[in-house]
Amino acid sequence: MSTAKTLHDVVAHGLCIGCGLCEAMAGSDRIRMTMTEEGRLRPALSPLPAEDEARILEVCPGARVSAAVDPGAEIDPIWGAYRDLKMAWSGDPEIRHKAATGGVLTGLAAYLVENGRAAFVLHVGPDPDAPMRSTWRLSRDRTEILAGTASRYGPTSTLAGLEVALRCAEPFVLIGKPCDIGAARRLAKLDVRVDRYCVAMLTLICGGASELTKSRDVLREEGLSESELSLFRYRGYGNPGPTRIETKDGRWFERSYAEMWADESGWKLQTRCKICPDAIGEAADIVSGDAWPGGGPTGEDEGFNVVIARTARGARMLDAAAAAGSLVLGTPVGPRDLDGFQPHQVRKKKAVAARYAAMRALGRPDLETEGLRISELAVERPLADLLREGRGTVRRIKQGRMDEPVPSLDGDR
Ligand SMILES: Cc1cc2nc3c(=O)[nH]c(=O)nc-3n(C[C@H](O)[C@H](O)[C@H](O)COP(=O)(O)OP(=O)(O)OC[C@H]3O[C@@H](n4cnc5c(N)ncnc54)[C@H](O)[C@@H]3O)c2cc1C
Ligand code: SF4
Ligand code: SF4
Repeated sequence: MSTAKTLHDVVAHGLCIGCGLCEAMAGSDRIRMTMTEEGRLRPALSPLPAEDEARILEVCPGARVSAAVDPGAEIDPIWGAYRDLKMAWSGDPEIRHKAATGGVLTGLAAYLVENGRAAFVLHVGPDPDAPMRSTWRLSRDRTEILAGTASRYGPTSTLAGLEVALRCAEPFVLIGKPCDIGAARRLAKLDVRVDRYCVAMLTLICGGASELTKSRDVLREEGLSESELSLFRYRGYGNPGPTRIETKDGRWFERSYAEMWADESGWKLQTRCKICPDAIGEAADIVSGDAWPGGGPTGEDEGFNVVIARTARGARMLDAAAAAGSLVLGTPVGPRDLDGFQPHQVRKKKAVAARYAAMRALGRPDLETEGLRISELAVERPLADLLREGRGTVRRIKQGRMDEPVPSLDGDR
């Protein structure tokens, strides 16, 4: 077995991350992103002509994942291509404070729009009618971009908005998770509009997207229902800032980052995240991440991102935004500093090949990867570790924990 042969198989085998690109490509009358009872955004499918489905499977991050290496970039075995690697934060104190970390992604996007290099940003933000959930949006000015700032840790379908963005026929910035950006970059090979109109692909370093059940658990513990909410902010207003919930009748609740995330067993990560070969944005122009030594915060600070400019275009954008005062560039760092900031990413990059081997051994589809070095990195781990990874995946498959119901447009599952 290799990659999934149908979108049904992508979803059924737990390989879908809910990016929404299949909806954008097929049209919402044929595929529509749906929140499942399990708290995942998944495509509700209807039968497609074989050539349409094959075209989607070429780009679907539940089937294929590739790096987009800019010739001339240095290549680190763990972190991939980079032209520039340093600390950075927004030069705008409001953005820096409200953003997830130092506001690099928001600050850069706002700079590109305010300077006429882009007409809008395709990204995500809270659903105005259901603030615990997230929706894609096109933001055309600083206020709108800022309304979508900071991390949304639950399910998001950023790319469901990609066809709308491309039809605007205007230059735009795409901000998404690494899996979103990888899929958009693959689409550029099939659809010339992507390179014509998308002037920047920006991403975050990603520890994984939780199911909505993670947020529902928080509400249950506070004795709240989703219909009472006026705000659900996962992070920001400080670095990392608290998770804050407000109700329509004026009550508020806060949890620290540690209370939300210290216990990894409660993250409720989606299956695709556990086998992610590129959670570090190897197809992006610029990657923005946290820079906490050891991988977690020890308190609050003003917000310091680590940024990776992977392409010449990305490096030029960073410099131009800094020259305009929109970003502040700090000290250069090296790939081994990144290992220290993101030890979980180093572990995952070296683990996924063993997980794929276990999936193949049980006749399950895995992901086709290109330029991500996962086999080379796996051999750096002791054999006992690789066997443990493989056994863990076998156990999950046998317990049915990688199987998912598949929604369909007529409501059957
Ligand atoms: C699910 C998830 C897991 C993460 N795991 C890590 C990690 O392991 N290591 C690490 O260093 N950082 C992680 N982060 C990223 C971190 O929280 C910061 O977002 C990152 O450092 C960028 O900071 P910033 O201040 O530049 O971003 P901001 O200026 O606040 O901008 C964030 C941008 O990202 C977009 N965005 C937010 N959430 C999502 C989402 N779910 N899907 C698509 N777009 C989104 C927003 O629309 C906004 O445009 C994670 C973020 C998310 C959403
Ligand atoms: S990963 Fe994205 S493109 Fe693939 S099936 Fe899921 S939502 Fe569709
Ligand atoms: S861990 Fe990978 S699959 Fe999961 S949300 Fe992050 S980039 Fe996407």
